[in-house]
Amino acid sequence: KSGFVAIIGRPNVGKSTLLNYVVGQKVAIMSNVAQTTRNKIQGIYTSPEAQIIFIDTPGIHKPSTKLGDFMEKSALSALDEVDAVLFVVSATEKRGPGDDFIIERLKKVNQPIFLVVNKIDQINPNDLPEIVDQYKDALPFKGIVPISALQGNNVNNLINDLIKIL
Ligand code: GDP
Ligand code: MG
Repeated sequence: KSGFVAIIGRPNVGKSTLLNYVVGQKVAIMSNVAQTTRNKIQGIYTSPEAQIIFIDTPGIHKPSTKLGDFMEKSALSALDEVDAVLFVVSATEKRGPGDDFIIERLKKVNQPIFLVVNKIDQINPNDLPEIVDQYKDALPFKGIVPISALQGNNVNNLINDLIKIL
């Protein structure tokens, strides 16, 4: 099995940390080499079972200039070409305008979207349902996966969920 997965989320939610955890050393190597016009390959996860190519979607957070609009349209159409989208949010911060901006854009995306609630090592587990409630009805999520990208908690389940839909 193989497929493309886009990672999206506002700054500092832990996108790079997740990528680093999942693909390890390969991130730095790939990000210098493989690039297409619209998508930047950030890393490749490889196991005997599957290969998952993680991509960056440049332009999705750009302000509304003409160039920004163009880049955003490109980024959005790129999102319809991947097999899945990971929308990463931080459990340590309230849902804010940066999240809302992305949610609005993702409403136009037809591919399966997973809500990844990161940094769960920083919260009381009892607070998780309340955190998830802020997002769970915002989009028709294919799955909701709490993780700690820093410690690697539950990342294997995230990968397994992705492999299932490839
Ligand atoms: P990005 O901007 O979305 O790529 O976010 P980064 O991956 O650069 O992470 C931003 C900050 O959050 C860094 O200081 C990371 O070490 C920290 N961070 C990322 N994931 C976690 C996590 O699961 N737990 C904790 N405690 N910190 C995290
Ligand atoms: Mg980053």
